[in-house]
Amino acid sequence: MGKPTGFMEYEREPRPERDPLNRTKDWEEYTLPMPEEEVKEQGARCMDCGVPTCQTGAMIDGMTSGCPVYHLIPEWNDLVYQEQWQEALKREHQMNNFPEFTGMACPAPCEGACVLGINEPPVAIRTIELSIIEKGFAEGWVKPEPPSVRTGKRAAVVGSGPAGLACAAQLNKAGHYVTVFERDDRVGGLLTYGIPDMKLPYRVVKRRVNLLKEEGITFVTNTEVGQDYPLEKLQKEFDAVVLCGGATQHRDLEVEGRELTGVHYAMDFLHQNTKSLLDSRHEDGQFLNAEGKDVIVIGGGDTGTDCLATSVRHQCKSLTQFDIYPKKGDVREEDNPWPQWPIIHRVEYGQKEATAVFGEDPRAYAVMTTKFVGDENGHVKEVHTINVETHTNDKGQRTKKEIPGTEKVWPAQLVLLAIGFNGPEQGFLKQLGVETDKRSNVKADYGTFTTNVEGIFAAGDVRRGQSLIVWAINEGRAAARECDRYLMGETELP
Ligand SMILES: Cc1cc2nc3c(=O)[nH]c(=O)nc-3n(C[C@H](O)[C@H](O)[C@H](O)COP(=O)(O)OP(=O)(O)OC[C@H]3O[C@@H](n4cnc5c(N)ncnc54)[C@H](O)[C@@H]3O)c2cc1C
Repeated sequence: MGKPTGFMEYEREPRPERDPLNRTKDWEEYTLPMPEEEVKEQGARCMDCGVPTCQTGAMIDGMTSGCPVYHLIPEWNDLVYQEQWQEALKREHQMNNFPEFTGMACPAPCEGACVLGINEPPVAIRTIELSIIEKGFAEGWVKPEPPSVRTGKRAAVVGSGPAGLACAAQLNKAGHYVTVFERDDRVGGLLTYGIPDMKLPYRVVKRRVNLLKEEGITFVTNTEVGQDYPLEKLQKEFDAVVLCGGATQHRDLEVEGRELTGVHYAMDFLHQNTKSLLDSRHEDGQFLNAEGKDVIVIGGGDTGTDCLATSVRHQCKSLTQFDIYPKKGDVREEDNPWPQWPIIHRVEYGQKEATAVFGEDPRAYAVMTTKFVGDENGHVKEVHTINVETHTNDKGQRTKKEIPGTEKVWPAQLVLLAIGFNGPEQGFLKQLGVETDKRSNVKADYGTFTTNVEGIFAAGDVRRGQSLIVWAINEGRAAARECDRYLMGETELP
């Protein structure tokens, strides 16, 4: 523990951000680095608790508590306070191949489980995590580390999101020849084509992928396994396969008028926007443009927030985000005690920006969409809603009750559906003969990651359903360990 009195002396400082109004004029990262001296003070707030709940990575009540990659958080907090940055970096990489991805975009369940967070703002763990890895890159400490011996075994990883990248990195460390297949034109999965550039810039993904290439991993893009690359060939050419294809089957909203033009899945909006931005700085016009439109985002989660931030940058005319649940309180409820993930009202970057541009928070709470109405050309012009009450029964199941008299009509020329996902796309899994569970995810137990087909493993969202980057990294690493055991009869991978 760097400074025993640190938690009493220093306040938690939020990660520095650019001015919310100014930053909507470009697509650059919205956060700023924290000065080193301040990071040191933030590290000093860590109490080095006997039971470091911040690094436990447990599921409590269906929510993540503590860090799923079991990051050695108190150790690196102390090392930062002692200004031993290089040692801190080693500790980070010990548990997490990509601390820059989690440092930038993780919701930080570690902070929700920090002991200091019981009665004070928690340690700024995520900011410290990012500061360590960014210093590592700036100082040239992060270098490719190719394996010294090759085993001669060949492993294929299908999908290049965080699960696929972590899995490939670990299998390569074990000395196997690794090929990652990606159907998109760029590597990164949702790190690249889900989370927008201002939250997690593509250059950060590319910087890491370049290192992985230098370590000997082969990336094959624009290649959909099962379509462009036959499955027979895959199984013949590789000794083992790890499925890391994600879970991006859209959840739809089945209401009247859904077929109108102008009603889109959020992922189509986000994917096209990033592709056009990276290809041509939007010069090619190959994206759904929110400019001058009344935009309604349906869904109160991360994807919805990313749609807000993207729409304000397009200079939309107005912006509203529907959340079907009521507004949460500013502090934990009694049934949501520490160290559970705190279910509290949050103002994320997209809401801050929309407030800066339009003068008020864009969210409308407890709102359910009843229908879309179009103009004479079949283009959406209105969204009709009614307010709802949510009730939870004894079994924890939630039901919605409409409140008569709360009907409302909202003008809209662009509607974005950000209401979640229904598991992985099934076609390719069926072709492979891989069994799925009742939620349509690949059936493979956590721990073994083996599917019913010999030599085929599964990790990340394709196995657990839409989740978090940090879980994808955890599963990618753990599946690599089991795959290595399968290939070699034993494993030394962590
Ligand atoms: C809009 C959005 C924002 C998010 N924001 C956050 C956030 O801020 N923080 C956070 O922690 N989590 C966030 N998440 C969740 C997080 O991104 C995912 O949980 C994580 O990316 C899952 O990783 P994965 O590797 O399992 O799958 P993915 O990232 O989905 O990657 C799967 C890849 O497999 C490829 N693929 C699929 N099938 C094939 C095939 N047959 N052949 C070749 N390639 C194939 C896909 O093209 C894709 O690139 C967000 C999700 C979305 C949708």
